[in-house]
Amino acid sequence: MLNFTKVDRANPLKRGVMERIKDFREVYTVFDDNKAQEQSERCIGCGDPYCHNKCPLHNIIPAWLKQTANNDLELAFNISNETSPFPEILGRICPQDVLCEGDCTLNDTHGAITIGSIETHISETGFENGLKPKFANKKIGKKVAIVGSGPAGISAATFLLREGVDVDMFERANKAGGLLTYGIPGFKLEKERVQRRIDWLIEAGMKLHTNCEIGKDKSFAELENDYDSVFIGIGATKGRFPGIDGEKNDNVYLAMEFLTKVQKRNFGEDVENFIDVTDKNVLVVGGGDTAMDCLRTSVREGAKSVKCLYRRDEANMPGSKKEVINSKEEGVEFIFNVSPSSIDNDGINLIKTQMTEADSSGRQSVKTIPGSEYKESADIIIFALGFEQEVPAFLKESGIELDKWSGIVTNDRFQTSKTKVYSGGDSVRGANLAVRAAADGKNAAQKIFESFQL
Ligand code: SF4
Repeated sequence: MLNFTKVDRANPLKRGVMERIKDFREVYTVFDDNKAQEQSERCIGCGDPYCHNKCPLHNIIPAWLKQTANNDLELAFNISNETSPFPEILGRICPQDVLCEGDCTLNDTHGAITIGSIETHISETGFENGLKPKFANKKIGKKVAIVGSGPAGISAATFLLREGVDVDMFERANKAGGLLTYGIPGFKLEKERVQRRIDWLIEAGMKLHTNCEIGKDKSFAELENDYDSVFIGIGATKGRFPGIDGEKNDNVYLAMEFLTKVQKRNFGEDVENFIDVTDKNVLVVGGGDTAMDCLRTSVREGAKSVKCLYRRDEANMPGSKKEVINSKEEGVEFIFNVSPSSIDNDGINLIKTQMTEADSSGRQSVKTIPGSEYKESADIIIFALGFEQEVPAFLKESGIELDKWSGIVTNDRFQTSKTKVYSGGDSVRGANLAVRAAADGKNAAQKIFESFQL
């Protein structure tokens, strides 16, 4: 340990650009044992580790770094999988630069420990060596229905099954995984990784009901009657339009519609109204990780040109820096400080913007520049402006209290206004990170289990 003065921070190798843009396989390779050990040895083992505090799951990061440095894979695997429902997935998709690695003590001076990549290495290498997540041997005679199979639902199922609680999971799509399956492209997360976790939950006794929409194929009242508790983890999947003329034109799409259709096609499914961007000029409006996913998907789909339009400057982009770098490497052009004003059949009308001076809190805002209007030509425009909560009929009819943004209201025990119905993740907090949904699912599962002990 403490090798940070001798060893520089290193990221896992990426596949070459010309090779990777031809498919949807992952861009990053996984550290081998030597690299993971070398990088783990850089950790200084802080007494009160900021990385641990900043991780929404409160992963015991220095402990599994230490065991990786000691070459004790099994212990590292067990510690890592103890607090996280799917460490090899979050190691790949978390924006570490604003979470654990951003708060690493070495970040500003020597470069943060590559926490996410080591986390992925530990589980992937563990699996290769026959290690598996552990579940309870005995059942406690309680059963929970989980509505939704995204990160919150998978996490809740994992931690309930570990306590010996029976779990039935209901998913309206034909595959489980929610955002992890349909929203995050394969070049960041290959779908076999998600299916592997689902398969382990099924092996541990979970009953998965796909193509089952609550309120249509099964009533919510049935869930309330037939189960000891219900957990709702339906995410926030409704895309946002900017509210400008022409936004419902035939050449305009929402990010999740585009990403989901491409993924379904990649699964070999027949997709109605597939959005074909081959040889088209594509503009993606937005500056977060979902915008980067749409841009890089368009590149892989053979678009003629792919541009990102963002209303702030590069320093104020909300997503992960590495995704912006990867997008640039793959040929995406970025146009900063522009705001859309209307859409025509052949492009988008924009007005230039500039950042204001920072106010006393350090926050800069955006103002438009009068007379700076111009047009960017495009065949296809995709909006990636964030997500809102959907309110499915079953939720409206259930009488569960919602807030003014349509989020489910919960108390600090993750209980909704119906005491045996729990919720967490984006359906409560609005669109947020998968790791926060995973943390909510875990914490809600603990509260549900505690309620069975009363
Ligand atoms: Fe970092 Fe995310 Fe892993 Fe937590 S779950 S240690 S935030 S990569």
